[in-house]
Amino acid sequence: MAVVCNYHPGTRATHKCDRCQRHFCLTCFPGAAANPAQWRERTLRCPICRRPLAECGPTPLARVLWERLGKLLRSLIHPVPLLLLGLAVATGLLLPQPHRWLLWPLCTTALLLAGLFPLLRRRAAPAAASPVPRKAPRGRTAVAGDTDRDDALSRVKILTIEGDYNGARRVLMDALRQYPNDPEVNERYYRLLLAAKDTRSLRELAPHLLEKLVRLDRAHKAAKFYLATNPRPAIDRSHLRHALAEALFRQRKFREAAQLLKNLHREDKHYRRLDAAYLLLARVYLEGLKRPGDAARLLQFLHRHFPQSPLARQVQALQQRLVNSRQPG
Ligand SMILES: [Zn+2]
Ligand SMILES: [Zn+2]
Repeated sequence: MAVVCNYHPGTRATHKCDRCQRHFCLTCFPGAAANPAQWRERTLRCPICRRPLAECGPTPLARVLWERLGKLLRSLIHPVPLLLLGLAVATGLLLPQPHRWLLWPLCTTALLLAGLFPLLRRRAAPAAASPVPRKAPRGRTAVAGDTDRDDALSRVKILTIEGDYNGARRVLMDALRQYPNDPEVNERYYRLLLAAKDTRSLRELAPHLLEKLVRLDRAHKAAKFYLATNPRPAIDRSHLRHALAEALFRQRKFREAAQLLKNLHREDKHYRRLDAAYLLLARVYLEGLKRPGDAARLLQFLHRHFPQSPLARQVQALQQRLVNSRQPG
């Protein structure tokens, strides 16, 4: 029965680490899976202890022999060896009946010559090769970069499953240095801090990471992380509070959204988008928390302090809605 990967249940393992007693599949090594020709030349290393992995299944010798045979058969598909074999068969068949036995030695000789052909071709190849080095295909560096990142993320996942949070963190720090603006690497870092219950790091880093995720267009994820962090991180920057509150409103987390926005004018009266933030808070009160009185007070504040706001019409519309809802039906 085939051994399965420890990290991808149901997937046949291709490699194993005797030291860690763990099995791995190719999904564990996205870089190798994306470029099998290249990884065959270098040994895969254990994501946990970094020692070279042994292959599962057929022994390396059997695999090497199988590969050589395949290569030989492929190189025979060429006009010269095919012509040689064809000639031998034709000559043998044309011979008069008593000399037909010559067909076999003829074919064997032709096969031998055909077998030598790939060797001769290989010898001739360097001389025929162009002296100008070939350019690497376009975008290759980017692809290599992507697979490096994917390999790092896969390693982090495996180390996290193994409970080696420090190891996972080291790999992620390296990845972050290389890809500081990669949303997935940043997300994984936050998730690792949550999994490790690293309260101290979360207190220091959470606002910075959340801000980065918002900037990388992942406000939705940032809001989820914000909710999952206990105790909640203190967010000082108004624009981040606003962005998180918007995402929380969409996720129908009204209480948390209101918590972030209320009294914003006292803490940061110069906030550029205070009108938008308070219009959102009014909607949170009206549509989410069912507190029409608070919504009305906020709309009056907006009406008084931001008469020239481009949002004035929306403020008016919301006020009208409030009036309508108060009229006895
Ligand atoms: Zn796997
Ligand atoms: Zn290992």
